Amino acid sequence: MKSLKFWFITGSQHLYGEETLREVAEHAEEMVGFFNQQNNICYEIIYKPVVTTPEEILNTMIKANGDVNCAGVITWMHTFSPSKMWINGLKAIQKPMLHLHTQFNKEIPWDTIDMDFMNTNQSAHGDREHGFIFTRMGIKRKVVVGYYQDPKVIERMGKWLNVAAVAYQGADIKIMRLGDNMREVAVTEGDKVEAQIKLGWHVNTYGVGDLVEKMKEVTESQVDDLMEQYKESYTFADGILEDSSQREAVRYQAKVEIALKGMLEEGGFSGFTNTFEDLHGLKQLPGLASQRIMEAGFGFGPEGDWKVAAMVRVMKMISGNKGTSLMEDYTYHLEGGNEAILGAHMLEICPTLAEDKPRIEVHTLGIGGKDAPARLTFSGKEGKAICVSLVDMGGRLRLIILDVEAIKVPYDMPNLPVARVLWKPMPSMLESAEAWIYAGGAHHTAFSYDVTAEEMIDWAELMDIECIHINKSTTIPNLKRELAINELLWKFK
Ligand code: MN
Repeated sequence: MKSLKFWFITGSQHLYGEETLREVAEHAEEMVGFFNQQNNICYEIIYKPVVTTPEEILNTMIKANGDVNCAGVITWMHTFSPSKMWINGLKAIQKPMLHLHTQFNKEIPWDTIDMDFMNTNQSAHGDREHGFIFTRMGIKRKVVVGYYQDPKVIERMGKWLNVAAVAYQGADIKIMRLGDNMREVAVTEGDKVEAQIKLGWHVNTYGVGDLVEKMKEVTESQVDDLMEQYKESYTFADGILEDSSQREAVRYQAKVEIALKGMLEEGGFSGFTNTFEDLHGLKQLPGLASQRIMEAGFGFGPEGDWKVAAMVRVMKMISGNKGTSLMEDYTYHLEGGNEAILGAHMLEICPTLAEDKPRIEVHTLGIGGKDAPARLTFSGKEGKAICVSLVDMGGRLRLIILDVEAIKVPYDMPNLPVARVLWKPMPSMLESAEAWIYAGGAHHTAFSYDVTAEEMIDWAELMDIECIHINKSTTIPNLKRELAINELLWKFK
């Protein structure tokens, strides 16, 4: 993704004369130079010559479309640039668009300001003209407002560029499905053709037997090496390495990890699903193996949930694989005034959420009828996070984002040998759950400390899918109205 670039296009017109246009170009180049020195901007911004005619605008946009490394276009009107000149260019552009509403000059020079200065520093109305034409043409774009050196502006810009780059690269997401959906489950189902058209995701099935065959190629010395890595990265439950059956259970997961990761890498996959209902030939449900593969940056969905697998991958791309995992709303704490949700899964929570060193344990699993699987157990960190669910509404996809505050797990829960996170959802546990249920959100989510709601809203907009954000300002009547309006709106899109 680091080879991706964004083009910076400054609009103007000939009315101002050559000298002003030279000044506009110098300023734009200086701004681009500044952007390229910022740590929060992870992609190179390419300065493009100032555009002043309909032909120049159209040509620049066509070139942007044709450059595979161009992940998006940033526009800014230093001066006034009549927007009818932009119509053909904006009709042509197929890349994500950011309208940066900024000004080269930070403060008004009160003592020296004259009409020349006013005419050169005209973003205040040049960008309004520019905004109108986007809105008139119904073109989606991100608007970021503020002085271009303001750290907040740089941060918002940098985050959007990253999301746009992920959206642009999203077409490469390939999910390997080992087995189908868990029988009779509705919310994890969906239209894979629609997902490929809309989101670019390739979701295809592979036999779990392919994995079993691949595991036969894994050597004992490969497993020995991986066991050494486990010893460096995690602690082991007491006595586990001395007990031959438990040690073998861990070694078995290591074997699954090596074989499955090999299959994913060889096929260019960025995520996978499995299901406990189809483990033919496997001795254990992959637990530690799935956690390790997620930790390496892959998406994962249990029970055949390919939507959550791809969402975990998307959010790992956005966060740079920090603090992001599959999650499931598991059980509630309903003590009045102190309500919380305990999130976990049967086994498969990504160790990037852990507050301390995860621990390898082996326990029987009451579901699936297989041998006791090895897994990593830990508690999640404290802090702000989001839960994200993508559901198929039949004819359209809906993204649901929930703001939560993860809190310290106050008890050891010695009889609960799975990774877990405890959180308080916004605006409150009860209203949040009511809102989530009205919105049709799933029990599986992609959970992240390191991706913001704004980033996911931007992603949904870039993907042109419906988006609902449940947050501290959500009220049930407003949410129900929003859902009702969306029902109509998306029918006519
Ligand atoms: Mn589940």
